[in-house]
Amino acid sequence: MYQAILYYKICSIANPQAEEAVQLKLCQSLNLKGRILISKDGINGTLGGRSEDIAQYVAYCNTHAEISDIDFKFDGVVSVPFTKLRVRARPETVATGALGQYDMTNRARHISIDTFHQWFLNKEDMVVLDMRNDYEWDIGRFKNSVRPPMKYFRDLKENLEFYKQYQDKKVVTFCTGGIRCELATPQLFAAGFKPENVYQLDGGIIKYAQTYGNDGFFEGKCFVFDDRIAIPVNTTAQAVIIGQCSHCRTTNDIYRNCRNAVCNKLFIACDACHAAFSGTCSEECQNIIADPSCIRPERIKVPLHRNK
Ligand SMILES: [Zn+2]
Ligand SMILES: [Zn+2]
Repeated sequence: MYQAILYYKICSIANPQAEEAVQLKLCQSLNLKGRILISKDGINGTLGGRSEDIAQYVAYCNTHAEISDIDFKFDGVVSVPFTKLRVRARPETVATGALGQYDMTNRARHISIDTFHQWFLNKEDMVVLDMRNDYEWDIGRFKNSVRPPMKYFRDLKENLEFYKQYQDKKVVTFCTGGIRCELATPQLFAAGFKPENVYQLDGGIIKYAQTYGNDGFFEGKCFVFDDRIAIPVNTTAQAVIIGQCSHCRTTNDIYRNCRNAVCNKLFIACDACHAAFSGTCSEECQNIIADPSCIRPERIKVPLHRNK
């Protein structure tokens, strides 16, 4: 059996470069694939491998003075959803594009998935803010959540003005696993939000899905940064599809990369339009790939729009 894990921990890591070397060697020896980012402020990773190898990785983390007791999120998978392994020491575990500009220790209180669910049931007067990227919201999100105005998380700092309309409301932020909220809420506070009004969803969509996926308030699928692209949250026949084919606007949530090698845009397309537009995002790109040298080679795994 294979597993995929998603995790982060905000903690002090004295020597990210040394930790990078140790974790790279460990993951290579366990044949794990995926991505780990390590900074002085913590670790953020997503890995896939055989269950027993993942267990060894988790055991390593738990013997580590700085990164023990991580709240790992596990997902059983039929195959490893990554082709490569990348372990990197970086200035930030998630790029905010605002390193040093905000007090990143000034983070919002966590709210449990149970309380958040209860608030939905109670029709609590709250605003739910998605701290992910716009294209992630497009195929799945919490009911009535606000579509993020940014394509990349690092652009949040340029969009704080947009969020000010919610600063006197009770606000709950969410993201996939929680780490982007840790780095977003300090920016909201800097923009004028009051600490008593803001909560961040503990464990994000992934944790909520484990308990409330089938009868909860998350609609559509959860975008993930690996070969699966999106994973179901509601696994019953009642699951709804959120999203629209970018060509014909029918309901659809299949993301594809444009076959024009230069464009490579990530977009939603239904099967019929995918065929009609030869796998491209537009007539323009379809005309361009009339020249076969402009077609993205199929054998090369195309990186999706990553949250760099
Ligand atoms: Zn279509
Ligand atoms: Zn295109």
